[in-house]
Amino acid sequence: MSYPNPMMFIAGTWCAATDGASQPVLNPATEEVIGHVPLATESDLDRAVEASVRGFAIWRDVGVFDRYKIMRKAAELLRERAQRVARNLTIEQGKPLAEAMVETLACADVIDWFAEEARRNYGRVIPARAPNVHQQVIREPVGPVAAFTPWNFPLNQAVRKISAALAAGCSVVLKAPEETPASPMALVQAFVDAGVPAEVLNLVFGVPAMVSKHLIPHPDIRKISFTGSTAIGKELSALAGLHMKRSTMELGGHAPAIVFADADVDQAAKLLSFNKFRNAGQVCVSPTRFLIHENVMDQFLDRFEAAANALKLGDGLDEGVTMGPLAHARRLSAMEEMVADAREKGAEIRIGGARHGNKGYFFQPTIMTSVPEDARIMHEEPFGPLAPMIPFRDETALMDEVNRLPYGLAAYAFTAAAETRAMLARKVEAGMLTINHLGLALPEVPFGGIKDSGYGSEGGTEALDAYVNTKFVTQTA
Ligand code: NAD
Repeated sequence: MSYPNPMMFIAGTWCAATDGASQPVLNPATEEVIGHVPLATESDLDRAVEASVRGFAIWRDVGVFDRYKIMRKAAELLRERAQRVARNLTIEQGKPLAEAMVETLACADVIDWFAEEARRNYGRVIPARAPNVHQQVIREPVGPVAAFTPWNFPLNQAVRKISAALAAGCSVVLKAPEETPASPMALVQAFVDAGVPAEVLNLVFGVPAMVSKHLIPHPDIRKISFTGSTAIGKELSALAGLHMKRSTMELGGHAPAIVFADADVDQAAKLLSFNKFRNAGQVCVSPTRFLIHENVMDQFLDRFEAAANALKLGDGLDEGVTMGPLAHARRLSAMEEMVADAREKGAEIRIGGARHGNKGYFFQPTIMTSVPEDARIMHEEPFGPLAPMIPFRDETALMDEVNRLPYGLAAYAFTAAAETRAMLARKVEAGMLTINHLGLALPEVPFGGIKDSGYGSEGGTEALDAYVNTKFVTQTA
């Protein structure tokens, strides 16, 4: 089982860049070069778009039951290939093999969900004012989609966009992450092997800014979907707006994780520590500001710290490893800078705070206390294993803190009181709120943010809306 040679998939053929340009792909646990990913030229991108136009003409007319069967088959193929797919995901991204396996199987579940949704893409009939008039609302696929996905969940970020687009009848040009090419390749291969016609799904890699500047304004691209940082998301949605392209933006977050005095504190610490350090903290919905009632802070900290200390850092392929490296060197320096900034401004580093070892991009699970509000960690997405602990006493100050930032992606809370849960459901400014358990990101529930965290949903019945136009047709015999 060797790591595949990274390639693009354009017009039904696996290929390198026409000018041969490429960049190295590294294993973040060892820093070894494991391959070279091609970087598309403008003519490669044009070929991909042209293919997606031809692919759209074919796919939009494939009946929904056939689309459904092909997609279900792709999900099955992914399950059959899960061992190999997960292993390559770990090699290129760093997460422990068990997490890579969960991502791979979850990816198959996402395909299944959207396959089913393809069959439920209902329009409607609107009662007319006159008896001989028939008024209909039809949901049509928007057309070729340009999708941009990141490296933290190289399968899952891509599958949500591809599956929703395919279910709606769209074709796709996917610009997948250069850091983790094998995972999106495996995904595309599963769809192609399952019977998605050759030109419907195109996969490119490249210099991200060049690719987005070329694809977004391209007249044949009708829809943009991006997952990544808020800063880049704002640039891309501005460009999309300039060219009147619809867009879905799944951007950064800075999730508050609130533990009230009446909560099951041990359970809260167990679930939140698991969720904080999953994928080494490189998760857009990761809990970030730990807002803990002062009466239970000591108990919470003890439990959380014990869980952090119990993590075994190492190469994700090794037995027993529970936290891998950060996915690339940029994250390592980002962690070092954020910790240095917090320390300088007066924060105490309770555990961690430094690189782990000197080979691979490992960073220690880090807990901070006495973190001042002007520390960068208090307003920038850490996207790594940093956990600032902030005590609170009264509810008004708490809710000001919960909603203080321009982000509004995920929020977590633990409390026994029904009235507190009702208050949170009303007042938390976030696209997703999970109370007393971890319940986000299933294919059948909405997934997306508000405010600077973006717009549009990548889960639930809402997800298909992003890929359809509604057309109103009225007729009389
Ligand atoms: P980054 O902002 O440069 O890149 C984030 C992603 O966007 C990458 O996949 C990258 O290829 C892509 N990208 C960057 N510039 C682009 C452009 N001009 N056009 C199209 N795509 C572009 O930084 P990074 O170092 O890779 O990650 C840093 C930050 O990005 C993280 O701190 C986090 O806030 C955010 N991020 C968010 C998610 C998410 O799931 N929402 C995933 C990855 C990264």
